Amino acid sequence: MKENFMTLPTIDTNYLTKFLVDLLNIHSPTGFAEPAIAFVEKELSQFSQLQLTRTRKGALVAKWEVQSDLPPVALTAHVDTLGAVVKEIKSNGRLRLSRIGGIQWPSVETEGVWVFASKGERIRGSVLIDTASGHIHGGAGAETPRNDEHMEVRLEARTTSEKETRELGINIGDCVAFDPRVEVTNGFVRSRFLDDKACVANIVSAIRSMVDAGLSPTRTVYFHISNYEEVGHGASAGIPADVAELVTVDMAVVGRGQESDEFHATMCIKDGGGVYHEGLNKRLRLLAEQHGIPYKTDVYVFYGSDGEAFWRAGGDVALALIGPGIDASHNYERAHMDGLVATTKWIMAYLLD
Ligand SMILES: [Zn+2]
Repeated sequence: MKENFMTLPTIDTNYLTKFLVDLLNIHSPTGFAEPAIAFVEKELSQFSQLQLTRTRKGALVAKWEVQSDLPPVALTAHVDTLGAVVKEIKSNGRLRLSRIGGIQWPSVETEGVWVFASKGERIRGSVLIDTASGHIHGGAGAETPRNDEHMEVRLEARTTSEKETRELGINIGDCVAFDPRVEVTNGFVRSRFLDDKACVANIVSAIRSMVDAGLSPTRTVYFHISNYEEVGHGASAGIPADVAELVTVDMAVVGRGQESDEFHATMCIKDGGGVYHEGLNKRLRLLAEQHGIPYKTDVYVFYGSDGEAFWRAGGDVALALIGPGIDASHNYERAHMDGLVATTKWIMAYLLD
């Protein structure tokens, strides 16, 4: 701990917002996240301080090397999102889906989708219940369970049979991406998949702010941008063995019974995977207090993080989890600039400590 800690660099919130909105508008369900990885890679390539590499699994690793006697540290956040693949082509030409991660069916009923046909075409469609017409099914539509069996994709293409849909170039296993529906109003950002693109934007914004201010981290840092988090093993590989601490940057849970809100950053003490590292948590809390960063601590019930994936894979690091509050997660999510700025500041405070 230093007695006179430095003032943190200014954050360009217009840059943060624009980068986030652009990233949100790139479709990147787990397994099909390459366009989002490539977008982040291009953005980070403008900083000559960073050495960019890819893991074999396709994650992006940006190394900011500095002279220091201390071992390196790492931060991780993920660009992959919930989504779906084509499970079955129905006899009426519509698609049955298999979900990637835990998207909740009622939250995407009537949502627009793109089907990325493996032959290269991109075909528009929307998600409907199979009893959608009120003039046919009357009140029964409301009673139909919203599940894998009853939700289907209606394509904006002339098809009424399995054969015609296959002729469009659609195959079993093709990626289906839900529209994020991004909207920025009055400091709020509402969109699907703020988990975890908000945190990737926080990391990129922190790097940008430090570079603009002519500052470097106090020790070598690896930024690991994960592409397989939503299925549980994103950061299980790709964190170098000499890293001593890993800070996972991922959304905080907002809603009934939670301490987190959209206007603070949160440190998760315990989630579904257990308890994080007490020593690293203490340091991060002290930094937040020294820099006047609004933060909360919280416990998440149905949650696991990429940092825990690394721990489970045998990673020997001190591990923490911080991030901005996201309302209605894995549904139609919402963040606020105050929480995003608080998280970005916390990242900088950690890197400059
Ligand atoms: Zn996440």
